[in-house]
Amino acid sequence: MSENTGAIVGVNGNLLTVSFERPIFQNEVAFARHGDVRLKAEVIRVRGRRAELQVFEDTAGLRAGDAVEFTGELLSVELGPGLLAQVFDGLQNPLPKLAEECGFFLQRGRYLDPLDRERSWAFTPAVEKGARLPAGGKLGTVPEGLFDHWIMVPFDAAGPVTVEEIAPEGEYPVTHEIARIKDARGASHALTMIRRWPVKIPIRAYAERLRPSGSLVTRIRIVDTFFPVARGGTYCIPGPFGAGKTVLQQITSRYADVDIVIVAACGERAGEVVETLREFPELTDPRTGKSLMERTLIICNTSSMPVAAREASVYTAVTIAEYYRQMGLNILLLADSTSRWAQALREMSGRLEEIPGEEAFPAYLESVIAAFYERGGIVKLHEGGEGSVTIGGTVSPAGGNFEEPVTQSTLKVVGAFHGLSRERSDQRRYPAIDPLDSWSKYEGVVPAAPVEQARRLLREGHEVGQMMKVVGEEGTSIGDFTVHLKAEFLDAVYLQQDAFHEVDAATPAERQRYVFERVHRILETPMKFADKDAARTFFQRLTQAARDWNRAAWESDEFKALEERIEKMTVEVTDYA
Ligand code: ADP
Ligand code: MG
Repeated sequence: MSENTGAIVGVNGNLLTVSFERPIFQNEVAFARHGDVRLKAEVIRVRGRRAELQVFEDTAGLRAGDAVEFTGELLSVELGPGLLAQVFDGLQNPLPKLAEECGFFLQRGRYLDPLDRERSWAFTPAVEKGARLPAGGKLGTVPEGLFDHWIMVPFDAAGPVTVEEIAPEGEYPVTHEIARIKDARGASHALTMIRRWPVKIPIRAYAERLRPSGSLVTRIRIVDTFFPVARGGTYCIPGPFGAGKTVLQQITSRYADVDIVIVAACGERAGEVVETLREFPELTDPRTGKSLMERTLIICNTSSMPVAAREASVYTAVTIAEYYRQMGLNILLLADSTSRWAQALREMSGRLEEIPGEEAFPAYLESVIAAFYERGGIVKLHEGGEGSVTIGGTVSPAGGNFEEPVTQSTLKVVGAFHGLSRERSDQRRYPAIDPLDSWSKYEGVVPAAPVEQARRLLREGHEVGQMMKVVGEEGTSIGDFTVHLKAEFLDAVYLQQDAFHEVDAATPAERQRYVFERVHRILETPMKFADKDAARTFFQRLTQAARDWNRAAWESDEFKALEERIEKMTVEVTDYA
């Protein structure tokens, strides 16, 4: 710890004005002291011999004259084995895994070690003495849950480094010295399993950055077929209350084809965060049958926690995601909600009396949001192999108004938009992703041309539906009426998916291709009906059969029997004229 200290000259909410003598820097971590209490803070502006610091906790009791210790370090996370399955707050304090109630918040000024110092890990060296490694290179591994957790050369090491000492295979706590390296400048460093990294700086210890490519299959049909997410891509979900956001987040976490899911529950109302904390540990991992938490990590801050900690939480989350990416793993980061995070930025900016931009958000809002999503991507590692971070962020604009700065800035940078619709959730059409408003720039699991045709049908069916509200069924031609019924059929049997049904909850890519091809063929079939009632009855029966089909195990006898039945039904109404 450096001996650099300053003194508080003013307190305004979480903002401290501090005078100092020796040099300090932007984003340096400091501790404000009053009696026995030491409160963590970050330097957010330096002007002459005065600096403004944001305190990550309630500042009650702090007053002018109190001392501030500068640490000489940037706000950082602690990285190493044992991060998975944990629940942290924005400053990486481990919160009890099962929060029974809201009363779990830590006492002010108490900071706990993010990684368990007591626990031992079975280390296996990956290199021998004398090996030369780049920054981020693999020194050894320890098993963590389903993975080999790499113990790596520090990401900012002057490489290539030479391994001077490496621990033999054995059980060691994270604080044990497992290697000694000499960097390219000739300096020796003793290494434990713990790494620290400043949260606001992307980890760049890789060979190459690749373009997001290939679908990240979520097994949600409307997503993978219509509005796909790329591995290493980014997407945005608006989250109107009650639109099925929580269920969607859980289902994505369970089934998305990634190794690790990190949920940054940032600044949502306490009740929602508690819901996340309570429900996640109960989810089972379809791959292992064990708890999903084994490959999940939750960072949570509620709006009752100070804004600065809220702001830090998304950076903490994305830095941990990058860390696991460096091991060649695929990570999905779900940030919920980025609007609350942006509100934290707005509050801090307001206290600093910066010149405000649109809706009092700081003028740099757009670049902050862009910089966050830019941390998503695929990288090629020095060791060979690839790792990826895919980022999904929810936005919760007041009154569902998308014409506001946070949503607009986000839409400019993400690759897909999953517009959750209140109207659809009111009709219990889940997942309530709006097929007309949503979009994606990524490639899906199904060829694009038939998907485009299906979308056109959905639009036409919707238009007929709107018209029918005015002119009634009588005023609608049987042709238009059939278009409407076809669109409703597609909606009911493909877009809608029951998250609580064992089979229907998750449709693998292969099954999506198979089913979509057949559904598409039905939609393209010219059909002839005696009258509208006959058409309606037919589609009711067809929809029922196709819903049963969705619920039948893939390639089971039942699945095949239902497929045949659906084909036969279709043949009966085909217009061969
Ligand atoms: P939100 O988090 O947006 O407030 P929830 O995710 O809690 O909404 O969803 C509210 C309710 O809607 C759930 O309890 C469930 O009954 C229903 N629901 C949401 N999504 C689905 C889905 N994909 N399949 C079936 N039911 C769903
Ligand atoms: Mg919810």
